[in-house]
Amino acid sequence: MDDPEAMCYISNLSDKCTADLIEELFVQMGPVKKVVWKDEASHRYALVVFKDVESVLFAVEALDEIRLFGQPLSVKPKNGTAQYEKYEQWKRTQPARIAPPVPPPPPQGGWVVPQSRHDNHQPRRSYDDNHGGHRQNWGQRQSWGHPQSAPPHRHQQGNERMRDRGATQRNDDRWKRPNPFNNHRQNTPSAMKVDVVKKKKALKVVVPISADAGVKKKRPWRNKARREAKKEAKKTSTDTEPVKTAPPATDAVAKTKKSRKGPKKREKLKKLHAQPEQTVEEKDAALKKLESGRFRYLNEQLYTMSGSDAYELFSKDPEAFYVYHSGYAEQTKKWPNHPLKYMIQWLSSKTPGLVVLDLGCGEAKLGSAVGAKHEVHSFDLVAVNDKVTACDMAKLPIEDGTADIAIFCLSLMGTNLAEYIREARRCLKENGILKIAEVSSRFTNTKLFCGAVCKLGFDLTEKKRLTDYFSMFEFVKTGKVESKKPFGLKLKPCLYKKR
Ligand code: SAH
Repeated sequence: MDDPEAMCYISNLSDKCTADLIEELFVQMGPVKKVVWKDEASHRYALVVFKDVESVLFAVEALDEIRLFGQPLSVKPKNGTAQYEKYEQWKRTQPARIAPPVPPPPPQGGWVVPQSRHDNHQPRRSYDDNHGGHRQNWGQRQSWGHPQSAPPHRHQQGNERMRDRGATQRNDDRWKRPNPFNNHRQNTPSAMKVDVVKKKKALKVVVPISADAGVKKKRPWRNKARREAKKEAKKTSTDTEPVKTAPPATDAVAKTKKSRKGPKKREKLKKLHAQPEQTVEEKDAALKKLESGRFRYLNEQLYTMSGSDAYELFSKDPEAFYVYHSGYAEQTKKWPNHPLKYMIQWLSSKTPGLVVLDLGCGEAKLGSAVGAKHEVHSFDLVAVNDKVTACDMAKLPIEDGTADIAIFCLSLMGTNLAEYIREARRCLKENGILKIAEVSSRFTNTKLFCGAVCKLGFDLTEKKRLTDYFSMFEFVKTGKVESKKPFGLKLKPCLYKKR
């Protein structure tokens, strides 16, 4: 039986949101037991069941109103629970929230998604483009925790899934952290504390402690204010009327309650509460981290599974493909040049009217660039625009011997490279050209690789290093196939570093 106290109720979910994504997001807040997903015609919501009760209010504080696919999530404790009560009390003490930032518009040349296939998908990149600078702050938040008392994290128990994904660098100690709501408990009626200031005989001032009194803030200017208030009080101390001089509430708490937390932890809490206005940005930075982790995970998957498995993966979850491609686009921005440019130049120099196959085309940029001059057919696992035909390039919807040129530009992913090249050969005319551009570091031995391609029925006509990073190979189709599965047709995966 699940403990309702450990449940979070999440609503206002975008159509694009999945239970997996919610789990990935909430697992950042604390160990998740399960996610119950309801997609009813009138109502779409998720129930996240945490393993511990403390995670609930923490998740509410961190994730309520966070934008997921442009839609602010509503994250609340389950109705009718003690957590909900606490939340309600806390909410009453809160100033109005800062509106979450409106996501910037999609990038120029961004996704164009055909209504018929992917009318649900909007670019997700828009989240974070403007908020990357706040990673530092998230870093601070990540370190909340009591290492000594942390329960074993499920990853330590053998589940490596999330770590592999690299969704975020999780610190296993994070699950036990000071509940941010506790810092406000002074405001609950039962815990309302008063600070009594005695001013000679009958002078009594009762001051409720302010919402953030639990945290001692560094406010050097307060000393001056205090001295002046003291002087003022001395002057008026002979008056019979009570004088309401509110001493800093922070002092009151510091004196009455000595924190048992270490100086480092106090410092972190101080920072956290001193900058509440950064919360939304921190959330954005956290999401950005999640996405880049997901990209790296998907990228690794593509290099370690067959094309047909990758096709199945993305057919079931096209959303993942968008995550992959926005991550890929982010990476390519950092490259000084792209081999695609070379392919475009080369094709532009050819006599018009050639039938070109762009295999693993991504956004079909090649087709956009030279489509007016040549007949370009663009294939990829998911059609992100109407130029692309979705398929596994090991099974192309193209007749035998009809293409002049087949191009693999950074697309020889997967474990079945021989199948891709055999399929390209099937579609090529006699003397048709096969072009391969790849990251140089993927090759252990280029000679062996080229020899293996040749055994599939090609002659090597050109081999060159395009830049420090990329190599390019050109082959011509011949009539003779020496081997269907030649030795040496393997490339190392191209993995991206965690930033
Ligand atoms: N050629 C493009 C994209 C390179 S990214 C460019 O240079 O910008 C590699 C692409 O290959 C990805 O879009 C990936 O989905 C695609 N790909 C990998 N394996 C594939 C397969 N089996 N069938 C079709 N596309 C594949």
